[in-house]
Amino acid sequence: MWGIDEKIQMAGEIIANAKHAVVFTGAGVSAESGVPTFRGKDGLWSRYDPEEVASIAGFRRNPDAFWNFSKELLLKKKAHPNPAHYGIAELEKMGIVKAVITQNVDMLHQRAGSRVVYELHGSMEMVDCLDCGKTYRWDDIEEILQRDENVRCSCGSPYLKPRVVLFGEQLPQNVLASAIEESRKCDVFIVVGSSLVVYPAANLPIYAKKSGARLIIVNTERTHADGIFDVVIHGKAGEVMPRIVEVVRRLRH
Ligand code: NAD
Ligand code: ZN
Repeated sequence: MWGIDEKIQMAGEIIANAKHAVVFTGAGVSAESGVPTFRGKDGLWSRYDPEEVASIAGFRRNPDAFWNFSKELLLKKKAHPNPAHYGIAELEKMGIVKAVITQNVDMLHQRAGSRVVYELHGSMEMVDCLDCGKTYRWDDIEEILQRDENVRCSCGSPYLKPRVVLFGEQLPQNVLASAIEESRKCDVFIVVGSSLVVYPAANLPIYAKKSGARLIIVNTERTHADGIFDVVIHGKAGEVMPRIVEVVRRLRH
């Protein structure tokens, strides 16, 4: 059995030798930014019913409940990128990471400086009125939420929907196709903070593996897929990722 220091060293060596690494992230990469995860013991699903607050049918029944939930997801500690997001962005600047594929809707990868980001579940950045078609930016909505007011369009409609994928909606097919292509052509596939249970999260590492890539996972808990990974690191993303980047930096000099 390897200890965590050896595993971080091994991960750093694999990444330093990569020509086309791809990072796949889930809610866990943002946990240390104060954004709660969905699953797990303090996950939001222990207090909210996903069908009520995060499905397209629930949104149509009660958009205010959706926004109330989103407020808890994204405003609670006014989320900023954490060292994991910055570390991933730095690997892209070094020319190693060519793409970040994320299930998150919180825009923290972009804010940390990542440029090629495939958002499988969309993001909160653009918000459309389903009645009159007017589009808002997240900043406008955030101001309304911070004042504790109901989110309403200037036309009076409560149906302001961010461009995120709710339960009952399709994934954006072009983004999904790019994510699959990236997973197939990478030589190193790095998972950070995903339970790998939601489709297509469960499949992407398998595509990478079948194409001969080395696989690394950083997650606080074990996942059902740990067995296919070359390096499995159980630890916090915000602590482990900067240490891996440090190893890569040393080896690249
Ligand atoms: P998940 O909630 O199912 O799993 C998160 C994983 O991260 C868990 O395995 C957990 O052990 C791990 N984790 C928790 N804290 C961690 C930390 N500090 N460092 C490393 N790992 C940590 O999330 P998922 O796999 O991404 O999939 C579920 C869905 O959640 C997706 O649809 C995604 O859109 C949505 N989601 C997004 C956000 C966000 O935008 N930040 C937040 C919550 C949920
Ligand atoms: Zn409107």
